[in-house]
Amino acid sequence: MDFTKSKELHEEALEHIVGGVNSPSRAYKGVGGGTPIYMEHAKGAHFWDVDDNSYIDYLAAYGPIITGHAHPHIAEAITHAATNGVLYGTPTRLENKFAKMLKSAIPSLEKVRFVNSGTEAVMTTVRVARAYTNRNKVIKFSGCYHGHFDSVLVEAGSGPATLGTPDSAGIPKAVAEDIITVPFNDLDAFKEAIDHWGDQIAAVLVEPIVGNFGIVEPHAGFLQAVNDMTHDAGALVIYDEVITAFRFTYGSAQQVYGIEPDMTAMGKIIGGGLPIGAYGGRQDIMEQVAPLGPAYQAGTMAGNPASMAAGIACLEILQEVGVYEKLDQLGARLETGILQKASEVNIPISVNRLCGALTVYFGDGVITNYAQAEASDGEAFAQFFKLMLDQGINLAPSKFEAWFITTEHTEEDIDKTIEAVGHAFRVMAD
Ligand code: PLP
Repeated sequence: MDFTKSKELHEEALEHIVGGVNSPSRAYKGVGGGTPIYMEHAKGAHFWDVDDNSYIDYLAAYGPIITGHAHPHIAEAITHAATNGVLYGTPTRLENKFAKMLKSAIPSLEKVRFVNSGTEAVMTTVRVARAYTNRNKVIKFSGCYHGHFDSVLVEAGSGPATLGTPDSAGIPKAVAEDIITVPFNDLDAFKEAIDHWGDQIAAVLVEPIVGNFGIVEPHAGFLQAVNDMTHDAGALVIYDEVITAFRFTYGSAQQVYGIEPDMTAMGKIIGGGLPIGAYGGRQDIMEQVAPLGPAYQAGTMAGNPASMAAGIACLEILQEVGVYEKLDQLGARLETGILQKASEVNIPISVNRLCGALTVYFGDGVITNYAQAEASDGEAFAQFFKLMLDQGINLAPSKFEAWFITTEHTEEDIDKTIEAVGHAFRVMAD
């Protein structure tokens, strides 16, 4: 493939934009460097770069694009918003409509608030939990990424893990000291943390299904035990569902396991591709938020009509019968094909998959926590990533990220991808 124009644009970008990118993982550091491809346009499960190379896309913009690129229903909603006024600074009907949709899909949301990103959503839940409990400490799980605000950039996964900077510079030590990290799926370690810090803990921050060191499900009983121990300690459970909300079912991971947190943070899918975040939860907790309570949170762009309209349109598509069944069927087909191709040439891999999201780890063994994901073979993944890109398959450029199937992928796309995987594995095995 010829990447001449991408290379030129990247050289230009390096002169003007720090690192040439507006989010670090786009710089391909997680796959040993290289020139990021510059996309020109996208439709459905496919996109085209500035050199006119075409790709089947599994990045899905790191998750939001579950209904494929430029879906006509979402495009129409955004177009209408654009001609109707994109920002008023007043409440709108759309916010009420969208809030009602979220509440009826996720029953633990007694009240919601819209913000502009997943980071903002999680950040505010932590602030509200601290206000509600009058405590400061937060437990999080190693390798889980919850956005880039100070408190949670401690042993965070995907981007930071790939860059080898789990602790960012510029975060006061005192802030990091209020964060306790324990391995995911390790109840003994969690109990130890609760026993030690229990009466100082404001909240436990959980990705109920991890998406940031690949797709990792909780062991049976893990989430319930975390809920119980957290509540016994007088602390709140916050689910970070920025990746998981509307990913596996019309609703959230809470419904997959039948467990309710006290608060939930969302983002990605619920914006239909436009910037968004939302948080919500128990009414008495949410009443801590201004203007009702003392915990301040605001936003010029919050609840803007374009994001609301795109989000509503996206959920309308996801409400259609058979959507998640299709994602699951395509996911199963892809998983089976990948495992088959690996076994043909004896490449050791494991695949973690739930519905239309999966991660391929290079190496032996099952991945249930961050240490295992970190130990998977990054060099093999980097080689695989490039071999796939050269065949027109766009994956996330990090061994810690998931592949996301959209409603617009077809069996033909999946089969082409499996063929490309077979070729890549044969080259790697030689
Ligand atoms: N929480 C999780 C689980 C995420 O995966 C992310 C982003 O990848 C965030 C929070 C932050 O969301 P945003 O990038 O919209 O700020």
